[in-house]
Amino acid sequence: MDEAELGKVAGWLRHAHYVTALTGAGISTESGIPDFRGPQGVWTKNPAAEKTATLQYYMADPEVRRLAWQNRVKSEMWTAAPNPAHHALVDLERADSLHALVTQNVDGLHHAAGQSPEIVVEIHGNVRDAKCMSCDWRGPMHETLERVRAGEADPECAHCGGILKSATISFGENLVAADLHKSQVAAGRADVFLAIGTSLAVYPAAALPEVALRNGARLVILNAEETPFDAVADVVVRDRLGEVLPALAALLRPLGISDC
Ligand SMILES: [Zn+2]
Repeated sequence: MDEAELGKVAGWLRHAHYVTALTGAGISTESGIPDFRGPQGVWTKNPAAEKTATLQYYMADPEVRRLAWQNRVKSEMWTAAPNPAHHALVDLERADSLHALVTQNVDGLHHAAGQSPEIVVEIHGNVRDAKCMSCDWRGPMHETLERVRAGEADPECAHCGGILKSATISFGENLVAADLHKSQVAAGRADVFLAIGTSLAVYPAAALPEVALRNGARLVILNAEETPFDAVADVVVRDRLGEVLPALAALLRPLGISDC
């Protein structure tokens, strides 16, 4: 991204009343978390693995659940740390240039970076919790993973015997209506909408920039690959997120804080 363009986006953010960001897998790849649907994605390379994330197969087949629990035990997500792109979004919030952050990611890295939980909407759920598919039990994922490590291949709900799953939204599973509503309201309120590391190809994320544009927002796309919204975006940036977002945040840093 050239400096003039970066300065232009910084100017929009500085004068915006409400800024909404949407983040996807691209922001977490620099933290070592593989993308699932991209060219090098886990599911692209191994379509069978997609079954573990598809509700219908997960509920019907104990073998699929066994594989899913093994994957969860080995997941990169437990050791991944936020990268400079995540930290830059925290800086934007502190500079009053980010007011809502909708994420398609389930890795919890925005929380880990120190983003205020009240501005984050995890529309695809998160991996921090396990949930029962029959009753409303929910608990910390690490406790259920302990049971798997201790030998339970497919641990069941201690309260009702139901099937347990991570508290993510699987394919074929309904989104949480309140989260979907919050994300749409945030998109509709935005003067500037930042689409970061997302292909904007998967519903409901793909609907959010549309809502923002309809309400007159500027659309800034920061993604390594093309998206269906590139032609209607005000600016499209292909640079590495771990470089361009900190550069943007640096332009918006409140005066007098960094240099005293
Ligand atoms: Zn239960």
